[in-house]
Amino acid sequence: MTQSRLGSIFRRMKHVGVIGAGAAGLCAARHILANQGMVPIVWEQSEKVGGTWNFTPQTGTDKHGLPIHSSMYQNLKTNLPKEVMAFPDFPFPEGDESFLHHSQVQKYLEIYTEHFDLYPYIKFSHHVEEVKPIIKDSGPPSWSIKVKDLNSGEFSTTVCDALLVCNGHYSIPRVPVIKDIENFKGSQIHSHNYREPSPYTGNRVVVLGASASGLDIMLELAPYAKEVLLSHNLPVAIPSDLPSNVRQVRGVVAASENGFIFGDGTSAEADIILYCTGYEYTFPFLTKECNVTIEDNVVKPLYKHLIHSTFPSLAFIGIPFQICPFPLFDFQVQFFVASVAGRLTLPSPAEMAAWSSKDLEQHRRDGHEGRHYHRLGLIHQLPFLEDWAEGAKIAPPGKHIKTILYIVGLRFILSHPSFKKSKFTVQEDGGVIERRGGAEVYTKLELTWLLARGLIWILWRDFPRSLGFLSSYAWDRLAKVFHS
Ligand code: FAD
Repeated sequence: MTQSRLGSIFRRMKHVGVIGAGAAGLCAARHILANQGMVPIVWEQSEKVGGTWNFTPQTGTDKHGLPIHSSMYQNLKTNLPKEVMAFPDFPFPEGDESFLHHSQVQKYLEIYTEHFDLYPYIKFSHHVEEVKPIIKDSGPPSWSIKVKDLNSGEFSTTVCDALLVCNGHYSIPRVPVIKDIENFKGSQIHSHNYREPSPYTGNRVVVLGASASGLDIMLELAPYAKEVLLSHNLPVAIPSDLPSNVRQVRGVVAASENGFIFGDGTSAEADIILYCTGYEYTFPFLTKECNVTIEDNVVKPLYKHLIHSTFPSLAFIGIPFQICPFPLFDFQVQFFVASVAGRLTLPSPAEMAAWSSKDLEQHRRDGHEGRHYHRLGLIHQLPFLEDWAEGAKIAPPGKHIKTILYIVGLRFILSHPSFKKSKFTVQEDGGVIERRGGAEVYTKLELTWLLARGLIWILWRDFPRSLGFLSSYAWDRLAKVFHS
């Protein structure tokens, strides 16, 4: 084939831009490449794939003056077993453990990149600086992407037919405003900058927040710290055995010189507060013309948490949280790519906008705070995955996902320090076997016992609040789930 014919074929290809080569960007590139007539262009500011799994002991800024992106800490093991964490078309290698060290996830992403031959499409050390829509008379806009080569300092601009934003959402710390915090003489640190427990030796540490990171870091600190105060506003205390120097307290309401005051009026002295309070969505490269806003932690205007309803050639991968990230990325990407390829017809922009407002309204009517709109939840993400799969005409998530998520979810709450010891095997029919120390576990029996023990524990600890909570919808659901 002549050079000019090749050139004209390349010009007719749809160029799909991808910002970031973390798990989401890699998955995007893999599925764009699988579509004839489409080619990905991936910009990655660092020198490696992997995104947040690309661990560095460094905090602060990198050699180019950009904020360190990774939030991994030295000993981190995944909080999801590999059997539900993997991309649906690319299992993790066999091994004795289900919960992996972060370096094994980084390796997995590197193997994924090689396996699908993605390296030629990734421009490393390229920082996306500015994104603008190019509005056309008809159809969705194209995108102008201005990028800085961090090594040469040169800028270039590329025009793409569609764009996937995969810049990651666990990098820019969210720090709550605490009354009188300026008086606190101790140290303050966000989990983004936490790397290992030894600097906390002999300290009294307030860990603020009890979701995945808060609980994991609390367990890491306990053998080193004098005392760990796990401060949170969950409806009831976590009904699990915890190390003896860990005490659960209500959320921090104010600081003093030497410590903190908590929501129940008690106070305690502390040397350090460690914020495990989550991260902010940010898209610093999107210009005003992109018409994307973040209001109360809700990214707008997104159809199905994914596609810009006014400019449907723009998608955001991985906005939902408390989910299985890699499988969710895969279903989102395939849904979006199917729409770009014309295999899926999206509703009109007006219809997509109407869907989004109705969905957000429903979320509020169901009694949830607006800022939790993108928190789909481990089980509630499944209908979304099924919906995206149906749109993209691909296989729905395997039935083992739900089973494993129920088991892990309950163990996470009811026997937190040991939940990562389980090893899961998925059978051909989708059945799941749980093992610990090589021996098969009587999962239902154990969970029944743990649930009963947990209920007694929370009733004993705080009868009035627990009773209110137990009668609430949440426990009702948990019970239904367990018997299903
Ligand atoms: P990232 O991995 O953050 O990748 C984004 C990429 O975009 C980065 O490489 C970044 O350099 C690049 N980028 C950003 N801005 C620009 C720009 N302007 N120009 C060019 N490049 C840019 N998930 C699990 O499934 N299991 C777990 O156990 C688990 N544990 C976690 C523990 C911690 C501490 C954290 C922080 C997250 C954890 N996650 C876990 C969630 C994890 O974030 C996702 O699994 C997933 O890796 C996110 O991928 P991503 O591609 O969306 O983002």
